Amino acid sequence: MYVVVVGVVGASGAVRRRYASQSDAPYPQSLEKRTASSRAAHWETRVERMRRCGERTVRRVSSSIWASTSATMTRARAHGGDAKSIPLYGERDAFLVGASEKGRGAYAARDIKKGEVILQNQKPLACHRTLANATTRCGRCLKETRDGAFCDSCASNAKREFADFERKYVDMTALNQYCAYNGGLKFPLLCARIAAMILSGSLKEQTLEWLCHASNVNNQETMPPQWIEESRLLSAAFNGADGGLITPEWYAGVTSRLHLNAFRVEIPPTSSSTTSSDWKSAMAASLDAITTGRGSGSAIYVLPSLLNHSCAPNIDVKWESGDAAVTLRASDDVAPGEELTITYIDANASIDARQRALEPYGFTCACARCVEDRQRST
Ligand SMILES: [Zn+2]
Ligand SMILES: [Zn+2]
Repeated sequence: MYVVVVGVVGASGAVRRRYASQSDAPYPQSLEKRTASSRAAHWETRVERMRRCGERTVRRVSSSIWASTSATMTRARAHGGDAKSIPLYGERDAFLVGASEKGRGAYAARDIKKGEVILQNQKPLACHRTLANATTRCGRCLKETRDGAFCDSCASNAKREFADFERKYVDMTALNQYCAYNGGLKFPLLCARIAAMILSGSLKEQTLEWLCHASNVNNQETMPPQWIEESRLLSAAFNGADGGLITPEWYAGVTSRLHLNAFRVEIPPTSSSTTSSDWKSAMAASLDAITTGRGSGSAIYVLPSLLNHSCAPNIDVKWESGDAAVTLRASDDVAPGEELTITYIDANASIDARQRALEPYGFTCACARCVEDRQRST
């Protein structure tokens, strides 16, 4: 699932979301190539993506899973891979990844109490700050820094993971301009970072493969036309140093995964960065970032990407450490075997508005709240 997620957070009323189809919608308003037929093809892509996830269902979840199978092996089977190839996630056996009629998802392995953390400070596979944060946040962890330099704890890792490569070979000028011109696109930037990490040897290309993706965008006939343009710009930015990695097909494969799995990181103002005198303006800026979809950056995580949507979610997605590390916290009591869910949209909206917001994901929500709302309206 891409984009956004997350839900209503705490008493502050702040809404955090996964990206849905905001500024990184496949068809930016400003692109002249946008056409009705290409837009229709895009929706078909998303619907097809959901269908494929469903096809991957291995089996229905049964209570015996919880008792008899290790989390690792369950994850491995759910994804059709071997245990070694799947990164280990999970907080002290609180959940398992399995498959149901909805496709894969995460399920409580034991009683989880409201407020309990089930995944703490999970670092992203990759992240990228938004252009608007280029001089205010660390380029590796999104922590606030004075001039956009890497923070102390990231400096040496960043060099090894991508920064040395980027400085030596990559010129992002044209791609940054394209992203800025098109309303602040984030995925081409994240895609560039992913390419630099792969080429630096700090991210395995195969790690991305098991994230949900759109299956019918793997040739230039069917992929959104601007992805071809973005791929060309990205390839030019790497100026031949990509070893043939960056092709339109590769770009489409990664970008479709970003659309369905990436999160908009929304780091709340911290007490250390906010004095009482500018608290109000910091809060205003934070809320503005939420409503305009700018946020602090974009990130892709493994386990949080597995959580399915509900309009009455039982898990909050939060950034509590001042950087891109994400924490999943139960917003309600959860019984063993119950699915863990987050919301991809503003869960406060009416059922009609929620369904419209979910259209990009290609499914009709059938959560208990939607079922109840529909019954009430008939
Ligand atoms: Zn940092
Ligand atoms: Zn719903």
